[in-house]
Amino acid sequence: MTTAPTDPDPTTDREQALLELLRGSGLRVTRPRLAVLGVLAEGGHLEVDEIATRVRGLLDSVSTQAVYDVLSALARVGLARRIEPAGSPARYEARTGDNHHHVVCGGCGLIADVDCVVGEAPCLEPSSPRGFVIDEAEVTFWGLCASCQANPPE
Ligand SMILES: [Zn+2]
Ligand SMILES: [Zn+2]
Ligand SMILES: [Zn+2]
Repeated sequence: MTTAPTDPDPTTDREQALLELLRGSGLRVTRPRLAVLGVLAEGGHLEVDEIATRVRGLLDSVSTQAVYDVLSALARVGLARRIEPAGSPARYEARTGDNHHHVVCGGCGLIADVDCVVGEAPCLEPSSPRGFVIDEAEVTFWGLCASCQANPPE
């Protein structure tokens, strides 16, 4: 007996990819970790509260503290990146390891990715690193987004 091939379930495929990401990082696979990774993989620079709300839409009960713990574990193994522009709560994103930078709107707080001109970390060589060995340069550009230019904030 043969069964007709069915289209792979995209949800299952996506979960499988996330599962492999987690396994590849050496982290134990847990449902909260899969859920947080899935939320981050949808893109953007998300605040912890927003991630927690979306995770709770997928899983029954996950505390905000548990989400914090998952995020720091993911950041530690390089599956998530934490950014914290001045005056904004910490945000996390799934785009890691490419040394990209951020542009932040001073009007509404919108954050967008900008590719690094140089590409490799650290892209800025301090002329006098004061004895430090530099791993990373965090560059934040500030400006006004297109919508705030059209409708300047009061
Ligand atoms: Zn704006
Ligand atoms: Zn980013
Ligand atoms: Zn750069």
